Amino acid sequence: MADYIDAKNLKLSKKDMMTCTMCGFCKSVCPVFEGVGWDPGVARGRIILSYGLLMKDIPADESVVETLYQCTTCKDCERRCPSKIKVVDVVERARKDLVEAGYMLPRHRKVVESVQRYGNPYGEERSVPEALGEEPRRARVGYFAGCTSAYRNPKIAQATLSILRKLGEDYTVLNESCCGSVLGRIGEDDEELVKVMRRNVDAIAEQGVEEVVFSCAGCYRMFKEEYPRHVDVPFKVKHISEYLAEKDMDLAKLEKKVTYHDPCHLGRHSGVYEAPRNVLSKIPGVEFKEMPKSSAESRCCGGGGGVRSAFPELSEKIAGRRVDQAEFADILVTCCPFCVNNLRIGGEKTGSKVEICDLVELVEPLL
Ligand code: SF4
Ligand code: SF4
Repeated sequence: MADYIDAKNLKLSKKDMMTCTMCGFCKSVCPVFEGVGWDPGVARGRIILSYGLLMKDIPADESVVETLYQCTTCKDCERRCPSKIKVVDVVERARKDLVEAGYMLPRHRKVVESVQRYGNPYGEERSVPEALGEEPRRARVGYFAGCTSAYRNPKIAQATLSILRKLGEDYTVLNESCCGSVLGRIGEDDEELVKVMRRNVDAIAEQGVEEVVFSCAGCYRMFKEEYPRHVDVPFKVKHISEYLAEKDMDLAKLEKKVTYHDPCHLGRHSGVYEAPRNVLSKIPGVEFKEMPKSSAESRCCGGGGGVRSAFPELSEKIAGRRVDQAEFADILVTCCPFCVNNLRIGGEKTGSKVEICDLVELVEPLL
């Protein structure tokens, strides 16, 4: 039996929710709406449901929970919303209230338990340094591979380490554990999240690094935007694309048509648009063309916000649509192992011939 919940986190978004004019502009951009095709699956639908939960007009039944967890937190609706509603805050606060009331989705519960037990969402018993085959030490630059790159797409982590070696960088792998992004997105409480943040910051600080370089857009956003709200971050934070954009690199020629997918956590959430494009412009011979939806208007890959783990078919459908938009190119480059994996799955489903890779996988053999 579904209950009415005590939506104390949603109270903070009450004004925002009341500001929604139901204009429906958000419909034109929501990747999930394209996938599910009905109104609750778009920002205004999620706002109505969240407001209903807050006012105890509706109980947290299965359809409400499902709809609130089908948002990828891509933030595209916020860009389009004339009322400037912070939709992602509404969705994430609703999720926190649902979790507090005991409504966590079973697949998400597994992820949380895995992070608590193993320090990663994949249930891997090896530490990240063990998975990467390098010993952590003291160095100027620390490489934060992130769980997806370390355990589910090690080619990206190995390409990054190879680039750091080729550039003669004084680098080290880090005694890292899950950055907490997945916990934050699915509504785990702040206390648990802050524990994860402290564990990471303390372990990294012990290695004495001056800057930390990230592969994953989600980990980067956590350290750049969310960690400083809760803990001191005593080192510089850079995405690998920002790090590479600052370097003089003599790269070999690559005569290919290349396009770029902006990860939502790197682009709309963190404002990093130019650095990856700058790195691509350093490769001689590359014919670069933007996708129809790019930079701030970029379409989500469908993997974020816990959608990939809880609704894999929806996630694949969205990814397939995104890959279709790159059909004019030989190579679709992005800057996040999670996006790479999801776009590849989507591309396989639609039979796309476009090669999909991370920026470091493109750069490493050319350096
Ligand atoms: S665009 Fe903004 S104001 Fe309009 S329906 Fe969507 S959330 Fe509401
Ligand atoms: S954040 Fe993205 S997925 Fe969620 S409602 Fe807005 S546009 Fe749709």
